[in-house]
Amino acid sequence: MAQPLTIRVRDALAGVANPATGRNIIADGLVQGLAINDDGHVRFVLELAGSALENAEMLLEAAKKAAAGVDGVASVSAVASAHSAAPKSAPRPAAPPSGHDNPFGIRKKPQIEEAAETLGGVKTIIAIASGKGGVGKSTVTANLAVALAAQGLKVGLLDADIYGPSVPTLFGLTGKAQVRDGKLLPVTAHGVTAMSIGMIVDPDQALAWRGPMVMGALKQLMRDVEWGELDVMLIDTPPGTGDAHLSLIQSKRLDGVVIVSTPQEMALADVRRGVQLFRKAETPVLGVIENMAWLELPTGERQYLFGEGGAARAAEELGAPFLGAIPLFPDLRIASDEGQPIAAADHPAAEVFKALAKKIAVAMAPA
Ligand code: ADP
Repeated sequence: MAQPLTIRVRDALAGVANPATGRNIIADGLVQGLAINDDGHVRFVLELAGSALENAEMLLEAAKKAAAGVDGVASVSAVASAHSAAPKSAPRPAAPPSGHDNPFGIRKKPQIEEAAETLGGVKTIIAIASGKGGVGKSTVTANLAVALAAQGLKVGLLDADIYGPSVPTLFGLTGKAQVRDGKLLPVTAHGVTAMSIGMIVDPDQALAWRGPMVMGALKQLMRDVEWGELDVMLIDTPPGTGDAHLSLIQSKRLDGVVIVSTPQEMALADVRRGVQLFRKAETPVLGVIENMAWLELPTGERQYLFGEGGAARAAEELGAPFLGAIPLFPDLRIASDEGQPIAAADHPAAEVFKALAKKIAVAMAPA
């Protein structure tokens, strides 16, 4: 059954003309990662670059409609990159690229800025960044979101870690995002309104994405998701400082960034780079969190596996607030793998996240 349906969907997509070339979107190789699950949910990525850009919206809509019209298709979610391969130059927040800078001359503002404008109901947007992968950025982000929600705030969690979306695992979410009236519906879990790129496309598919697609995905996570009214949205960004960060800065909606690091020198070099990037863009660095700071031994003694207090020192050196340290909690890893954020449990780790969330809430409050 699955095979013929795939072919029928491909055929339907081949009926979508690409005016830029006079061929169709299949012949032009624009449809990537077409996947259909047993429930008839179709997913694909429309890679739009160069000449197809001016028709981006139209092509995406037409492609979705064509796929949805195939007998046996229950729902369709598609993401597109409608960005040109933007030069990796430093962002210019004070003077964003105008229509004149746009080689395609179709938009006055960067599309990411327009997408961000749809987040009108979101009061504060904070990106969580880390220099390296594996420092616990996603775990910290998810638990901070839960802890902020426990303070009575309406919290959103946008998982834009394109290369390793972990919110579905951390929140125990399965399945793909539902679509209503053309908008993706976020999931409410553990008091948090969440949406992950992992709920739209398969993570292994996203691994091959290049810069423009990363930006396109981020744009859609902002614009095509029914976020509603939120006090604060946390954005789990990919590790390092790359296209997603530049896009967020360019969106001009970022109110601040929190940087997560482990204590060792290797990770701290990236913290410095991150702080410098965001500072250059005049994005406030709300603070640095040191994760995996120590392991408490059964004797009560602390074992500093990765060195002691490195992130606190780096924060001080950079003049950024140090928000606090999170020890290694074996239970935290276990709870995370089980999809139960520990911040919601009766556990010493929950107290640590509560304290950090309080500091962030204070930092984001208008002076
Ligand atoms: P990143 O998002 O930086 O790549 P993750 O959040 O995926 O990192 O965390 C990497 C691993 O480390 C996960 O298995 C997670 O459960 C574990 N982990 C993160 N922080 C802690 C901590 N403080 N104590 C114990 N395990 C942790």
